[in-house]
Amino acid sequence: MGRVPLASSGETRAAIASAEAALSGWSATPPAKRAQVLFKFRELLIRDMDELAEMLSSEHGKTVPDARGSITRGLEVVEFACGIPHLLKGEFSEGVATDVDTYSMRQPVGVCAGITPFNFPAMVPLWMFPVALACGNTFVLKPSERDPSCGLRLTELMFEAGLPKGCLNVVNGDKEAVDELLSNPAIAAVSFVGSTATGQYIYETGCRHSKRVQALCGAKNHMVVLPDADMEQAVDAAVGAAYGSAGERCMAISVIIAVGEETGDEFIRRISPKVQGLKVGPWNDETSDMGPVVTAAARDKVLGYIDQGIAAGAELVVDGRAVSPQGYEDGFFIGGCLFDRVTTDMSIYTDEIFGPVLAVVRADDYEHALKMVNDHEYGNGAAIFTRDGDAARNFSSRANIGMIGINVPIPVPVAYHSFGGWKRSLMGDHHVHGMEGVRFYTRLKTITSRWPSGIRTGAQFHFKSGAEQ
Ligand code: NAD
Repeated sequence: MGRVPLASSGETRAAIASAEAALSGWSATPPAKRAQVLFKFRELLIRDMDELAEMLSSEHGKTVPDARGSITRGLEVVEFACGIPHLLKGEFSEGVATDVDTYSMRQPVGVCAGITPFNFPAMVPLWMFPVALACGNTFVLKPSERDPSCGLRLTELMFEAGLPKGCLNVVNGDKEAVDELLSNPAIAAVSFVGSTATGQYIYETGCRHSKRVQALCGAKNHMVVLPDADMEQAVDAAVGAAYGSAGERCMAISVIIAVGEETGDEFIRRISPKVQGLKVGPWNDETSDMGPVVTAAARDKVLGYIDQGIAAGAELVVDGRAVSPQGYEDGFFIGGCLFDRVTTDMSIYTDEIFGPVLAVVRADDYEHALKMVNDHEYGNGAAIFTRDGDAARNFSSRANIGMIGINVPIPVPVAYHSFGGWKRSLMGDHHVHGMEGVRFYTRLKTITSRWPSGIRTGAQFHFKSGAEQ
């Protein structure tokens, strides 16, 4: 689609310096004034929604309605961030001791960096910079080099909305730019979303340089189907969640755990024709259910996993490898693929494939299914499909997973809640957006004051409890 130059470490330093120079003015701007920029930005996002969705789809390959949906999710984070004056309110305790009051406030951390993945080139940057800027920080965004245009366009819109110069910067780059962001002393906090191997590197390197880091990483999201589930609803949910965006979603369902042999058989019988019937095509064909995967390398990786699954003895019930839309023979298309009788030792079960491949595993009973969910190294999302409230409640309580869906296949929280996984799906302490986002991009300060100031107590040599003072 186009070419973009990759920033050197020197160019990245210049972007960081620009953010650093803008920090004192922006952090001193009243939160309500900062929110006004975001209110305007929200209007511009709505005005340019179609243009942004086309830009996103043409570079990524996902369908336009899917792109629009993801931008709308990002827009909701902007709407959340518009409430920043309320969100930054601190706590106040009057009279913690005689004439002494204690109060707390949240202040910006400084210059923040965001390193984002290819699969959500608008939504994931929108998880980060609106909240960071609303909190009074300045920001350097490093979008994925595979689809960088949305990051650039969103930044232009922020300036059109009235953001002062230097508050938001974009560097396009690879490891060289990222390493500068991770080691430059002016960067206070780093938000990363991407693969686990990169996330681990970013978390460890950023922490070694004393930065606050949140790294949201890979996933293998399970959907448990109990025998009492509404099977038609479960099958439709699984098809959309597994194959939407060609499986290139960190919350895609990639494993179905069917509880009981009969449940497994019925699930396979009902889902197979739907997977077979998926329409794979280019992003700008309105009849496409899903587009291609992002690069030739991504396609080869997915095909490699399919070979491994067959070699390991899994049953390839639907084989989409030969799918090639007419006129797009050189595209990176893969049709929907469905494996049955997958076991937990196979790489198609253990690894994130990030393509249109769904694995069905059979479990003896509910406890067996729960154990599989909990034993997997990833813990982003998991869903349970059932009509049994006891089982659903038990699953929400005992699953070692950050986001749970009950009869909801992709439980991405709304913007005023927070998004994040457990285990190897998130390194760091804070989830993104919602109050967790505000906490990540602010530092807590607590003030203890005595008024009137003229009281003479003499020197004090021991700690006093509040009650004693
Ligand atoms: P990626 O790790 O290849 O790239 C992410 C970012 O890191 C990009 O900006 C890239 O330029 C940079 N990067 C890549 N290699 C680097 C290196 N060696 N050193 C420094 N920086 C490097 O990830 P991707 O392929 O763009 O995205 C897909 C992955 O993101 C999947 O694993 C998916 O699960 C994950 N993801 C997770 C979430 C979540 O919320 N947990 C959301 C979206 C995507």
